[in-house]
Amino acid sequence: MSHDNCIFCKIVAGQIPSAQVYADDDVIVFKDINPAAELHLLVVPRRHIPTLQDCSVEDQGLLGRMLLLAPKLARDAGFAFEAGSHREANGFRVVMNTGPGGGQEVYHIHMHVLAGPRPWKRM
Ligand code: AMP
Ligand code: ZN
Repeated sequence: MSHDNCIFCKIVAGQIPSAQVYADDDVIVFKDINPAAELHLLVVPRRHIPTLQDCSVEDQGLLGRMLLLAPKLARDAGFAFEAGSHREANGFRVVMNTGPGGGQEVYHIHMHVLAGPRPWKRM
């Protein structure tokens, strides 16, 4: 169900444009409008769930699929982890900010996928 004043519901519904890189039955993935790293994607469920804390055991499939998507997205963008490689673009991170103390700004769950030289310096 979409929520009236939710920006990510509006993006899911196509009412607000986004730089989409992936979509399936459960989620859409688009570029963060204010990137904190060279690669900064948001994995956003089509269904409105306000926070990770609102998820229940029924959502474990969705959450698992979101997490398993991250390596594919990172690989497609050239940031796969390769053991033994010393290049900078070697791996990625995932983040789910939860609540004001966790830095959450948009109350529709989303997973950040970040990669590139030292993105944590700007998080
Ligand atoms: P969070 O602080 O975890 O809630 O992250 C919200 C993220 O959404 C921020 O990194 C914003 O830059 C990003 N964001 C907000 N509005 C848009 C938008 N219209 N398109 C893409 N990213 C957005
Ligand atoms: Zn929403």
